[in-house]
Amino acid sequence: MEHSEVIIIGGGPAGSACAGKLRQHNVDCLVLDRAVFPRDKLCAGWITPEVLDDLNTSPPDYPHGIIPLKKMYITFRGIKFKVPTLQYSIRRYEFDNWLLQRSRAPVITHNVKQIERRNGSFIIDGAYSCNHIVGAGGTTCPVYKTFFNKSESRLDENLIVTQEEEVPYEYTDPNCYLWFMENKLPGYAWYVPKANGYINIGVGGKEYGLKKQNDSIKRHWDILVRKLDEKGLVTGYDFKPKGHSYYLRNKESKLRRGNAYIIGDAAALATVDMGEGIGPAVRSGIYAAEAIAAGKKYTLDDIAKRSIRWKWLRFGK
Ligand SMILES: Cc1cc2nc3c(=O)[nH]c(=O)nc-3n(C[C@H](O)[C@H](O)[C@H](O)COP(=O)(O)OP(=O)(O)OC[C@H]3O[C@@H](n4cnc5c(N)ncnc54)[C@H](O)[C@@H]3O)c2cc1C
Repeated sequence: MEHSEVIIIGGGPAGSACAGKLRQHNVDCLVLDRAVFPRDKLCAGWITPEVLDDLNTSPPDYPHGIIPLKKMYITFRGIKFKVPTLQYSIRRYEFDNWLLQRSRAPVITHNVKQIERRNGSFIIDGAYSCNHIVGAGGTTCPVYKTFFNKSESRLDENLIVTQEEEVPYEYTDPNCYLWFMENKLPGYAWYVPKANGYINIGVGGKEYGLKKQNDSIKRHWDILVRKLDEKGLVTGYDFKPKGHSYYLRNKESKLRRGNAYIIGDAAALATVDMGEGIGPAVRSGIYAAEAIAAGKKYTLDDIAKRSIRWKWLRFGK
């Protein structure tokens, strides 16, 4: 059986940030992920400057395509405005692979099915053992399923369903567009340009709200495709979107049970206003690592609950 002091299940932004911080503290850790990296991850791939700060990096150091989004064109219930800001657009296919490699943690491709407690250790599928286990496996994380109760971390009202696709497309408009609450969508639709000729388009909304009005996220996807066509943003493309669901932050998310930790989407940490999950995933990964390596408290303090903050806005810049 292979033993490591810490095993992290999931090598997305949460797992990689955790692994990277543990390695900085010289703590022995291993990442298990069922996917072979680089892997696709459904995500608009919009990140804040804080994410880069937390990762101790900056756009010139990032080895793949990154586009600064200096304005966001927002439509809120039909009212249009332009928000000066500084955010970035990356492709998750590249970003996650870079982050995982950068962590310098050993990574094994393994689909975790069963986790048991035996004599104070965690045993994973009878093949791996560890003293601390970190659940970074997203919405379906096996650590979450084994050691946490739904009522402690996830609220049905906070489940977000999505339809999304990232495609190569020779776009002519390099701006980012967001459409909030249009056609009764309890969420928003987006058009996010990427470097090297890609775009990401999608819709996300609360499943609870959609069900209440007998609506579906697929209907809003169709509306978005028509809108992009009418506006000339994306025309004549044969889309094949996919869906993924994840939870927004709960008031009292439970993050730790003994030596079992959950981070990122496994802990339901996406912001309540924008469903931004990469920043909370990275920060929670770092905090869990510091709790393991340095005995710090692992709490939600300093993990942003909302994305829209005054420092987002850059009037006059
Ligand atoms: C359509 C969509 C758009 C989004 N847009 C944005 C955005 O623009 N900006 C933003 O900040 N957030 C966005 N989010 C949220 C963001 O994608 C997530 O919050 C973020 O990916 C969470 O990171 P994570 O590391 O916790 O999980 P993930 O990135 O999901 O990584 C989990 C990893 O665990 C692995 N795994 C799962 N189960 C197992 C298992 N049993 N065994 C082994 N490995 C396993 C998976 O293969 C995966 O690699 C979006 C989400 C969606 C669905």
